[in-house]
Amino acid sequence: MTNSEPLLPERLARAITMAGPIPLSQFMGAANAHYYATRDPLGARGDFTTAPEISQMFGELIGLWLADLWDRAGRPSARYVELGPGRGTLAADALRAMAKTGLKPPVDFIETSPTLRAAQAERVPGAEWHLGFTGIAEEGPLLIVANEFFDALPIRQLVATEDGWRERLVACQDILFLPIAGDRSFDMIIPPDLRGAAPGSILETSPAGVAVLRGLATRLTAQGGAALIIDYGYEGPAIGDTLQAVRGHAYANPFEEPGEADLTAHVDFATLKEAAEAEGLIVHGPVTQGAFLKTLGIEARTEALAKASPNRAESLAIDRDRLIGEEAMGELFKVLALTAPGWPIPAGFA
Ligand code: SAH
Repeated sequence: MTNSEPLLPERLARAITMAGPIPLSQFMGAANAHYYATRDPLGARGDFTTAPEISQMFGELIGLWLADLWDRAGRPSARYVELGPGRGTLAADALRAMAKTGLKPPVDFIETSPTLRAAQAERVPGAEWHLGFTGIAEEGPLLIVANEFFDALPIRQLVATEDGWRERLVACQDILFLPIAGDRSFDMIIPPDLRGAAPGSILETSPAGVAVLRGLATRLTAQGGAALIIDYGYEGPAIGDTLQAVRGHAYANPFEEPGEADLTAHVDFATLKEAAEAEGLIVHGPVTQGAFLKTLGIEARTEALAKASPNRAESLAIDRDRLIGEEAMGELFKVLALTAPGWPIPAGFA
């Protein structure tokens, strides 16, 4: 070894040149692993902003949602588990709200990025970090939260061509990456009603998302507890290319400079629901984020905070509207709850 590690684009280009085009999932996985490992992407000076970074009310209401469920489950000795906690803001807000009800759980974070682990440690001292569910104590119910986590996991895309359905692969010319259709036919796994889709149509699957969900579900059925999954998404299968790159709060080309932009895809909640049910969990929703937060009392909470600090009233109302407004996050973002058999029905899913 001489010099330093080659940069990600060079590494990917060399791998593709030597071994041929790679599945989009591999490209997206490598790009995001590099992206998250090398920066804190959140906030005004980063690439994107998430609900907990907009307002403390988001994490607080989720904390109270969990505490209510835990209370009605008989106040067992539970653990708080968060997947992809970002800066740890949601967890800090949720834990503060939970503590007021008497719920003070040990905290497990599933996080790959060393940069973000450091940020999380500042906000939630005493947390433990893991790369997956392995290593999280196998005793006691789990209270699991995942906000904008599943959308960051790698997807596969199938594309309709004149010759049938093919996997979308990533090829490379010099250092330019571009999507191409592979040689192998995938016709046999396409749902019958989508088989005749026009050439160019794209169908997405998320094997990584399903794998994470199965792991989560196995733990919940064995240990009890609940999970709250919040993300932008749809109930598929559906035709559509939702792969997007965001950099500096603007859309970018997902194939340009891999590892320098946040690559995401919309989450197919129908697939997650199916996997959860197959593992024996009870599924609630999805409902829209707007409806969920309103049922949990975001409007009253905004007013209470505004009363306590009148000079913040206007900005509190703006933040609330970003979270629940139809044109903002209120409609596009969905909330899915999963509970272990025997657990109470969670609030917000009547
Ligand atoms: N939930 C936070 C951050 C969302 S960004 C918020 O709402 O602000 C996505 C988060 O998932 C980051 O913390 C990122 O490092 C983490 N992440 C992405 N892919 C991951 C993976 N495969 N395993 C574990 N964590 C991952």
